[in-house]
Amino acid sequence: MEKEENRPVVGVTDRPRLLLHICCAPCSAYMTKKLEMEYDLILYFYNPNIHPAEEYIKRKEEAETWARREGLCFMEEEPDVGEWFQKTSGLEGEPERGARCQVCFQARLSRAAAKAVELGIPYFGTVLSVSPHKDAAVINRVGVRLGEDAGLDFIEADFKKKDGFKLSMAKAKQTGMYRQDYCGCVHSMKRARKAPA
Ligand code: SF4
Repeated sequence: MEKEENRPVVGVTDRPRLLLHICCAPCSAYMTKKLEMEYDLILYFYNPNIHPAEEYIKRKEEAETWARREGLCFMEEEPDVGEWFQKTSGLEGEPERGARCQVCFQARLSRAAAKAVELGIPYFGTVLSVSPHKDAAVINRVGVRLGEDAGLDFIEADFKKKDGFKLSMAKAKQTGMYRQDYCGCVHSMKRARKAPA
């Protein structure tokens, strides 16, 4: 059964509801403030890619604490780690921005679309494009296709533009948020640890 605090608050404004997939607090802090002007937001944390479990908990707790402090509705979906590894099998050696990332976006956004349908929310989107390491065109392509299949509108965006990434990081720094030094999966972690300082 869904936890009480996970239940979205609905119908509190006249703005259309948007289920916004988030990956961590720093990537969400700035863009959500902008989106909040247009939409009634329900933040959705589904990130089975994040490795190891301690790191997942750290990012999830930071995101939840920030969201609740801002008075935003936050939901966590239990990560299906087995499914993520199964879907990305054979793509372990891919670089960031490669084929594995597209599968990773698909795995996370398909759950977001399913949750939006379940809750009767007409719009869904993600903050993933805020990262300069992520290809917004690929994210948008995946999101639009999932939206079409589910009868939802995907919010196409490239949030890194207009200094979106810089402003997000500045906000995170200013509020003392935990900021990770790798994207999330075990492969990106290993690469980051190997990279020269
Ligand atoms: S590098 Fe990031 S986006 Fe790509 S597969 Fe790993 S966690 Fe997913």
